[in-house]
Amino acid sequence: MAERIGFIGLGIMGKPMAKNLLKAGYEVTVYDIVGEPVEELVTDGAQRAASNKEVAANCEKIITMVPDSAESEMAILGPDGVLEGARSGSIVIDMSSIAPLVSQKIAAECAKKGVEMLDAPVSGGEVGAINAALAIMVGGKQEVFDKCLDVMKTVGSNVVLTGDIGAGGITKLANQIIVAANIEALSEAFVLAQKAGVDPEKVFNAIRGGLAGSTVMEAKGPMMLDRNFQAGFRIRLHQKDLRNVLQTGQELNVPLPVTALVQQMLGALINDGEGDADHSAILHHLEGMAKVEVKRGG
Ligand code: NAD
Repeated sequence: MAERIGFIGLGIMGKPMAKNLLKAGYEVTVYDIVGEPVEELVTDGAQRAASNKEVAANCEKIITMVPDSAESEMAILGPDGVLEGARSGSIVIDMSSIAPLVSQKIAAECAKKGVEMLDAPVSGGEVGAINAALAIMVGGKQEVFDKCLDVMKTVGSNVVLTGDIGAGGITKLANQIIVAANIEALSEAFVLAQKAGVDPEKVFNAIRGGLAGSTVMEAKGPMMLDRNFQAGFRIRLHQKDLRNVLQTGQELNVPLPVTALVQQMLGALINDGEGDADHSAILHHLEGMAKVEVKRGG
């Protein structure tokens, strides 16, 4: 009989991930507080659960993919949550990007009932979720990781255990610092070139193969030059991630000055009504300060 997997949180990321599990032959039981994606998954062959508790009662491995720490806590520890339905030996795989210290707190509560947990946030965006090509960074026990590797490989292409519970989240926060700082630096570079009368596209083509070149530059440079800010990854989600970075830094007494600055810029962009724009729209903030608009041709 096919293994049963529970899937909670069928948003931009969770819906295609759950579909990939179905395609791979798993029996998938789903729940979301919003009805529409549940209906879609049921049409595709998933079982419907009436609550997070019911998902956990039906499945020994339960994936959660919700927005942030508060929603993970609610889905797993809250009333009618996963922990109420889970049995000793069940495993919660929280793939949401949340504060690592909250992952540790949730895992400690799960452990009281003999329920294991991995924190396993992802990188790769909606396209990576659709193509089952996510990078998955995992924290937890080696033996629990080993038991869940097949299911994680079904939704991702690169799955790495980086340490104990919370280490997956720390790895994701490290990733988000680097991506945010790169986008901000690229924005500054384009704005400077534009104001100097040098075509930003030529600057991009001249430097992309050198030391400044990066995956971020390749993904976000053309979007900026096209002035296409349609969200792959939303400003408000990146602001949330950097808030978790700064909270974690504060708890560990680690100053993170550049992250703090970019987090403030993202907050200002949300106030400007750009919360749902792609994070490449950090460019707008720099353009606003320099009173210039980046465009091809200089
Ligand atoms: P989303 O807002 O599209 O989806 C979240 C889903 O969780 C929604 O359908 C919501 O109804 C559901 N939900 C919220 N609380 C719930 C609860 N208590 N019980 C059941 N369902 C609940 O978000 P998303 O873009 O799919 O992102 C999910 C996570 O993945 C976030 O932590 C995000 O930072 C991370 N992430 C997103 C991307 C991306 O490109 N979108 C990339 C990498 C990581």
